[in-house]
This record gives sequence, C-alpha cells and structure tokens, in this order.
Amino acid sequence: MSEDNENCLFCKIVKKQIPAEIVFETKEVIAFCDIDPKAPIHYLIIPKTHISTINDISEENSEIIGLLYEAASKLAVMSGVDKDGYRVVMNCNKDGGQTVYHIHLHFLAGRQLNWPPG
Ligand code: 5GP
Ligand code: ZN
Repeated sequence: MSEDNENCLFCKIVKKQIPAEIVFETKEVIAFCDIDPKAPIHYLIIPKTHISTINDISEENSEIIGLLYEAASKLAVMSGVDKDGYRVVMNCNKDGGQTVYHIHLHFLAGRQLNWPPG
C-alpha cells in the first residue's frame, strides 16, 4: 500500500488539496500542526507516499521511517524543545488509537507528558 490513495485525508494534505499549517517539508516528508492538539506543540510528521499502517512497512519502504525521525529531530531544534524534551509516537490500528490510515509520527511537546499513556 505505497501508492497514493485518492480518498486519504493526509494524501490530500500532501497534494495541498486540504489546507494545513505546514511547519516542515522535504521531498519525502511533510509536517503540519495537528488540528486538535494534545499538547502546546503537536505536529504530525508524515511520508508523502501513502502507507496505511505500521503493518505496511517493509524493507521496500522502511527508509522513510528514518526520515520521519530526522524531521522530528529538526523540528525539536526549530521549536526550541530539544533540551526540555518531547515525545514522538505512532499509533497502529484500533487498539493503538489510529484514526487516520496514513502513517504519521505525532510530535508532542511543551508540557510534562505523562507515562504510561492512557
Ligand atoms: P491518530 O489518531 O490516527 O493517531 O491521529 C490522527 C490525528 O490527525 C489526530 O490527532 C487528529 O487530531 C488529526 N487530524 C484529523 N484530521 C485532521 C485534519 O484535517 N487536519 C489536521 N491538521 N489534523 C487532523
Ligand atoms: Zn495517504
């Protein structure tokens, strides 16, 4: 499932068919503000190619995961939270709390985050 998905909300954001507050962009990756933030800083970092869930990551497409984390590292510095800290998390399927089926790394920062998560 690496093809562009016409009905996918995040593919539409990649194609700029739906507006989003974009905070970082490269050839392979885009990051934007979550519409319903769970922390003072809440970005979603996504691959521009469509991958539905972590279960669809394979040796053919796994390089993109490193690029998502590279974006997180850069965003941490850009947002001034690299020293205080932040959390990146990717939910998978129903029990993991995934609601949008185009993989995304949540980048959360700006407050003390609880552990374990709910
Ligand atoms: P998930 O629950 O799949 O891990 O995360 C999906 C995230 O996408 C949620 O945090 C939700 O607030 C966010 N989201 C859903 N629809 C939109 C949208 O249209 N624009 C943006 N920027 N974020 C969205
Ligand atoms: Zn998609």
